[in-house]
Amino acid sequence: MPVYDYVCAKCNKEFSVVLTIKAHDTEKVTCPECKSEKVEQLFKPFFVKTSKKS
Ligand SMILES: [Zn+2]
Repeated sequence: MPVYDYVCAKCNKEFSVVLTIKAHDTEKVTCPECKSEKVEQLFKPFFVKTSKKS
């Protein structure tokens, strides 16, 4: 299941939520700290280094 990263707009807490894609589309994510629904999703780019030096 995908992991989504969020940051709370109220308390700036960053947290990760594991959701199915369907749940991500339909469910409200709330901050675990302050229960605010004012959360923003973070899109952290992943850099996968595949260069192998041998
Ligand atoms: Zn919060």
